Amino acid sequence: MSTDPVRVRIAPSPTGDPHVGTAYAALFNRAFAKGRGGQFILRIEDTDQTRSTPESEAAILASLRWLGLTWDEGPDIGGPFGPYRQSERTAIYREHVDLLLENGHAYRCFCTRERLDELRKAQTGAGYDRHCRTLDPAEAAKRAAGGETHVVRLKVPTEGACVWRDLLRGEISKDWASIDDQVLLKSDGFPTYHLANVVDDHLMGITHVIRGEEWINSVPKHVELYRAFGWEPPVFCHLLLLRNPDKSKLSKRKNPTSIDYYRRAGYLPEALVNFLGMMGWIMPNGEEMFSQEDMAANLKLEAISLGGPVFDVDKLRWLNGRYIREKHDTAGLLGALKSWALNDAYLERIMPLVQPRLETLSDWGKLAEPFFSDTVQLDPADLVIKKKTAEETAEILQLSLWRLDAQRDWSAEAITALFQDLAQRFDIKLKDFNLPFYVALSGAKAWTPLYQSMAVLGSDLVRVRLRRALDASGGVSKKQLKALEKRYAELFAAAEEESE
Ligand code: GLU
Repeated sequence: MSTDPVRVRIAPSPTGDPHVGTAYAALFNRAFAKGRGGQFILRIEDTDQTRSTPESEAAILASLRWLGLTWDEGPDIGGPFGPYRQSERTAIYREHVDLLLENGHAYRCFCTRERLDELRKAQTGAGYDRHCRTLDPAEAAKRAAGGETHVVRLKVPTEGACVWRDLLRGEISKDWASIDDQVLLKSDGFPTYHLANVVDDHLMGITHVIRGEEWINSVPKHVELYRAFGWEPPVFCHLLLLRNPDKSKLSKRKNPTSIDYYRRAGYLPEALVNFLGMMGWIMPNGEEMFSQEDMAANLKLEAISLGGPVFDVDKLRWLNGRYIREKHDTAGLLGALKSWALNDAYLERIMPLVQPRLETLSDWGKLAEPFFSDTVQLDPADLVIKKKTAEETAEILQLSLWRLDAQRDWSAEAITALFQDLAQRFDIKLKDFNLPFYVALSGAKAWTPLYQSMAVLGSDLVRVRLRRALDASGGVSKKQLKALEKRYAELFAAAEEESE
């Protein structure tokens, strides 16, 4: 193990809502670094040009800041090893690929998509057949210089096994025969995750790679890359995946996964961080309530347990309640409420929606309630759209929910346009189409104006309430889901591209 000062990082891809899994990795990395006087770095892995967005990056940074999981170096504050956004480092990756081409650890591959598709169909799971690996490098360089489309692949050993150590699991061995000649540079000149990740971890002086278990199968490729460059690999430590109470992988179908949802639903940042710290780890004294500082002082990575940590929202609620009762006096709680939603900025957005519907000031409470709650009470029978069955309504809600998941612009104007478009695509009168949304979001068939209210509630609360309403109505079956996914692709593929 390296004796240099500890440098760790998280490297999220900005392709969606800020995920609790990102906060979980951030917490363990940060606590580990802080406990050793080291550095915690935030790097944005945005090399997937089609899926990465600046909005998602901004949301990830904001939600980590809300949780107090701040970083020492990152795209917003810079640092000595920048830039910290991979899309600004493409020249570095190209230089490094050239090094591997020169030292014979990588080769250019000119295989067409058609050939690769055929290969995939013909073989079962065997991967790329290394067709271009034996091309004369000088000849290949000439073809590339002539503008022929190609990728660059890593020459992975064909015999023996890759043996490496994971801090939690000990020695792991994987036969090289099962590992593909990984693409390092894509035909558009952008690096793949594997190349960019290894080059950056090395250049940024990362000593320990602490990340989710889903990356464990990538390690042999990374180990080979370190060897090809002649670099010493970092220590690898793969955290366990967060699970739903039924032990399936945490997914937003069963549990909200967006950090912003928990903020909007009224969880305290320090309680959520504490809860994430309990995922696979306990304080040596067994105390369940602890701060980031307590965790930093006590965390030993080796002590992380390999039992799948369960993200149990009931437990989180219980812990949050303890924070509210035990960590706050009246003034402190009032402060927390104010920074959550009892502030002028939020109230001023709600007032114009509520005011036209008030006869007495006391009418305010009931009308405004959905803006200050997590769940709403509803009768599933109220959700059913006119002239549609409950099952058809559920399908329409599911399709709409997916469309809302993809919606980036959450202004009232954009939502208005989206709902008009949806109603038209489903061939339903707008008024009838709006009804289940009123019910899902407020519990009643009438409320403040729908689209403005949705804009104020925000995308996370809206989507979670819709998902809950869908579940309350019986939802859609697994079998229906497959057909619906197909229908969704037909209905919305073009529309989503436009909204990117
Ligand atoms: N970009 C990867 C992610 O989205 C990073 C994985 C890693 O930490 O190496 O999680």
